[in-house]
Amino acid sequence: MSIQLFSPVFRVNECLDEIRICLEKGWTGLGFKTNEFEEKWKEYTGFNNAHFLNSATAGLHLAVKILKMQNKWQDGDEIISTPITFVSTNHSILYENLRVVFADVDKYLCLDPIDVERKITKKTRAVVFVGLGGNIGQYFKIVDICRKYNLKLILDASHMTGTRFKGNIVGKEAEAAVFSFQAVKNLPTGDSGMICFKDKENDVICRELTWLGINKDTFARTDDKGTYKWKYDLDYLGYKYHGNSIIASIGIVQLKYVDIDNAYRRQIASWYDENFRNFKDKIHPVPVTEGCESSRHLYIIEVNNRDELLEELNKNDIFPGVHYRDNTEYKMYSYGQGTCPMAHRLSQRILSLPMHLRLTYNDVNYVSEKVIEYAK
Ligand SMILES: *Cc1c(COP(=O)(O)O)cnc(C)c1O
Repeated sequence: MSIQLFSPVFRVNECLDEIRICLEKGWTGLGFKTNEFEEKWKEYTGFNNAHFLNSATAGLHLAVKILKMQNKWQDGDEIISTPITFVSTNHSILYENLRVVFADVDKYLCLDPIDVERKITKKTRAVVFVGLGGNIGQYFKIVDICRKYNLKLILDASHMTGTRFKGNIVGKEAEAAVFSFQAVKNLPTGDSGMICFKDKENDVICRELTWLGINKDTFARTDDKGTYKWKYDLDYLGYKYHGNSIIASIGIVQLKYVDIDNAYRRQIASWYDENFRNFKDKIHPVPVTEGCESSRHLYIIEVNNRDELLEELNKNDIFPGVHYRDNTEYKMYSYGQGTCPMAHRLSQRILSLPMHLRLTYNDVNYVSEKVIEYAK
């Protein structure tokens, strides 16, 4: 039996029961379960606003777009971001004709506040922070920097469903926090995400933008029971970005279990930590910030012979991953090469070990044993 990096678990019967309600009612689209999921998400997280989307990528795009629109940013203005992320984070800046300025990462693989401050120019408008693997890194220092320089903050919380600091779900400091419920994330659905704006006004604009720019109030205002529902107005050139009730049904069920699932992920991480404790010369687990209860989307180690180790593990039917390739290695971001030496170095040394709910204690020990055997 092979051991994969990710292997999502679904409470199948509960999900099917919830989906059945949609099918029997004949309501599978926007509204109904999407509203219910948004309400349950707000209750769980404590966010004031939440809008359910078909992906986190859509959410990141809209976070950038709406902040640009509302704050009158110009094309070519700059947003500081990390090279150690999934490309969605940085693409969403390019979608809006803004420039990605890369800042380096720290030992947590998250944005380094010192380098962020160094990379601020007259054109800097915002910072996008990625809570890598579910950790918060030095997020709160970035929050302070944004306040000091009057920059907007977007949190790419794709890995952070369930992440807490001092008992609170993290992200309320940001203008927008975006969560991913993609198939292998901590709250897996099919594809979907949630965007949580600090300001109500931005949430309202976002709801129009996720449905082609249609102003729902135009027909909500009329007493009429539907005759003129086709006679809506268009406020914006919007997108088809909203989520649907079938996927929301899965999300509603998965949300009930995310905390116990994450607790098991933290258990797996502590088993790995324990196993690697006596091999500090060759295996360095990427640390979690003091006081952070990480969702533990990832368990990442730093080693000297990453590529070789990866191959050896594959030969033993263990299939780890890499999060992530330094984004400045991609042609479209190559102008950033050389600006983030730590990110570049770590990107060649990191390996994400199997982390999912089907792993047993024995699996973790087996993987650890092989890592210890082949790491140099
Ligand atoms: C998965 C992921 C995204 C994109 O999420 P989707 O829901 O697949 O669009 C963005 N950023 C990071 C860091 C991710 O891991």
